[in-house]
Formats: sequence, C-alpha cells, structure tokens
Amino acid sequence: MALRKLVAGNWKMHGVSADLAEIAAIADASRRYLGVDVALCVPAILIERAARAAPGFAIGGQDVHHAERGAHTGCTSSQMLLDAGARLTIVGHSERRDAQRESDSDVKAKSTAALSCGLAVILCVGERLEVREQGAAVPTVLAQLDGALPERSASGAELAIAYEPVWAIGTGKIPTTAEIAEMHAAIRAKLVERYGDGGAGIRILYGGSVKGSNAAEIFAVDNVDGALVGGASLKASDFIPIVEAAAGV
Ligand code: PEP
Repeated sequence: MALRKLVAGNWKMHGVSADLAEIAAIADASRRYLGVDVALCVPAILIERAARAAPGFAIGGQDVHHAERGAHTGCTSSQMLLDAGARLTIVGHSERRDAQRESDSDVKAKSTAALSCGLAVILCVGERLEVREQGAAVPTVLAQLDGALPERSASGAELAIAYEPVWAIGTGKIPTTAEIAEMHAAIRAKLVERYGDGGAGIRILYGGSVKGSNAAEIFAVDNVDGALVGGASLKASDFIPIVEAAAGV
C-alpha cells in the first residue's frame, strides 16, 4: 500500500528571527505539492514565530518532556509545544540519545505523552556503524522499537517512524537501497505485529544525508514513506527538490 509521503525537516540548533522568511518560503513552496505532507521541526523557542510566519503549515518541535508540568528546568512539555503552535514533535533523535543519554524507555515515555496530548510524533531509531558492520543492524533497530514505541495504539496520522542510521546523519554517506529496503520491511513487520492493520498505515521515513540528488532513488524503495531531513532542510532551495521528489515531480 503506497502511503502519502511525509517530508519533515529537522532544523536542529539552527534558526533565529532572521530565518523566519526562509520558513515562510518553504511553506509557500510546499503548498504546490498537495500530495505530500511537509513539516519543519524547529528549535522550541522559534515555534510560535514560525507558526505565525507560516500559517497553516506544520511546525514541530525536536523533543518533548514526558511530564505534563513540574520541576524540570529547561524542558518543554507537550502542552507547551501545542500552545506555541506545534502540531508534531520528533522524539528519540540519535543526537539526543547520545548527548542527553536518552534511553528507549525515555523515548517511549515521551512518545506516549506527546500522542496523549494530541501531538503527532516522529520516533527516531537507527544503528551505529559498528553495529551495522557486525551484521546486527536489523535486530538492534527492532529492539529500539520494542523499547520505544508508545504504549497506546497509534494511527498513521499520529505516528511516523524515522529510520536514521547514526553513521549516515550529516556525513553524506547513505545505506544502499537494498539495506534501506531490508530495514524498512523489518520495521513494517514490527509495526503490523504491534498495531495490527493500523501498523500498515504508519509511515516509515528514511533519514540521513537525504538531498535533492538522492531523494527520488530513496523514495522509490518499498516502505519508504518519506524522509526526515537535517542539513538540506535549512534552505528552500535544498529542501523543495526533496519535496518534489516525494511528489514524483
Ligand atoms: C537528521 O538529523 O535527522 C538528519 C537526517 O540529518 P542530515 O539530513 O543532515 O543527515
């Protein structure tokens, strides 16, 4: 079953007021591709201004705390993201798993809380290079999903999985299309095992060095339902060609 593709940008720790015009330009250009869902996940402090600069366009956060409120200095709750104008959030990005030592159970708590609050979730998984070289990429990613998938059942509109091999993020290296196909098929089987027929409707994004020049080849792989894009999402001139590829233009 071909799912409507989702192309989401992850601005990481990039973006100040001067970049709002770029967000508006991406939103405007994206409207031409009605068959593709497009979103930008920006720094939390920019969400409200980004949502105002791009009315009707999906703005998201890059992380969320699992608690509703409380003594969590520097953290952002799901309700705060929603209140600022976010519709979705990334959870479990490998940069947070590394730098903030986030575990699969942390990611599960975050994804469960965000969905319960009405935010859509992009849940990231992916193996390190040494794990791939040992031939353990698929079981490692499936174990991440076992530990991190939300407790509640989720529909395709609410939850997407981003397969992001850690060694492909920001490096210009990407897995072969056969490696992507093998991993996405394994993730699809896990989602169906977990959520029944609903698992067939959950989008599986590929992430890691996606560019306009390689996007069409990646989107042609079975079970690739979109992309999570870092560096190439910062400029409309780099990002929109990826959206075009998702639209089959
Ligand atoms: C990411 O950080 O999620 C990512 C995929 O980055 P890049 O596209 O720059 O590899």
